[in-house]
Amino acid sequence: MFVQIKGDCSKEQIGKIQSEARQAGFEQTLVSCGKEIIVINCIGAVDYERKLALQEFFRGLPFVIDVVIATTQFRLTARQAHPEDFAVRLNGVSIGSAEPLVVIAGPCAVESEQQLISCAEAVKAAGARLLRGGAYKPRKSIFAFQGLGEEGLRLLQQAKRQVGLATVTEVISPELVELVAQYADVLQIGTANMGNYPLLEAVGRTNKPVILKRGMAATINEWLLAAEYIVASGNPRVILCARGVRGIDNGYTRFNADLDAIPVVKKLTHHPVIFDPSHPSGKRELVPDIALGAVAVGADGLLIEVHPDPDSALCDGAQSLYPQQFAELMIKVRAVAIAIGRTI
Ligand code: PEP
Ligand code: MN
Repeated sequence: MFVQIKGDCSKEQIGKIQSEARQAGFEQTLVSCGKEIIVINCIGAVDYERKLALQEFFRGLPFVIDVVIATTQFRLTARQAHPEDFAVRLNGVSIGSAEPLVVIAGPCAVESEQQLISCAEAVKAAGARLLRGGAYKPRKSIFAFQGLGEEGLRLLQQAKRQVGLATVTEVISPELVELVAQYADVLQIGTANMGNYPLLEAVGRTNKPVILKRGMAATINEWLLAAEYIVASGNPRVILCARGVRGIDNGYTRFNADLDAIPVVKKLTHHPVIFDPSHPSGKRELVPDIALGAVAVGADGLLIEVHPDPDSALCDGAQSLYPQQFAELMIKVRAVAIAIGRTI
């Protein structure tokens, strides 16, 4: 149940709602403060009749704006739980709310110093705000390149210092979270691990922003419920990333680009929603059009694979843009963003 009260309410008024809710059987009463509205999120297994009675009582209090009984399973990621859009801020970049679109770009995998630095310089010059690059790669085949591991993390840190872009990298197991968090600015949970709950709890215990990719066969509900594992573990800085889902195998793309998830999830939750056009496309010539579609339907950002020499890439070369293509795409991204009233 979400109790919305006036933004200038006193501590005593907030406390009154909390104690009444606890008496009615709610186990948690989380307070979220916005400029004009404060939400008290009452969580617990309370029967419907009791909720209705409490709703009526709260509505009678002069400082209460409204009381919403949750109609979805979401408790922490529901838009009603947070008064305003929630922007994730890091290193002077802000992802979400009405802020400018943020483009994250870089190679699928960190391969070498030369590859990463030249890629970082190129994407930065074209307008990317963060650098991506996997050091631990969750590959389908055990014989495929698995990433450089800690050496890859060191290179990301070097690229950050040298080029000045904050870094995003994937973490694939709970045991690696502490190490990866020492090097990277943003932790990425890949599609294969969306439902790895111990991993979600482990990144939830860090203070780093987390990009949570949608599981390739996950419903939107499953995705948002997965995000709640991170938030419930103490880390609200979750950025949702749609990246294509399994659908009809048309032989032309790798996954079905789930652009519909962007406006749906933006209605359901206050968290930022970004889109990865590289993995659904599978082919670089498709990436720009799908990326522009994502911007047009309201994505708060893009996560794009770029490689200085995609033909020699150790991972996902076919879908990686040449730096020049990325620069051309950024000009169009800007135009579409402006057309829908946003900036970049
Ligand atoms: C990636 O971003 O390189 C990646 C492995 O993505 P996904 O988990 O979406 O396949
Ligand atoms: Mn990839």
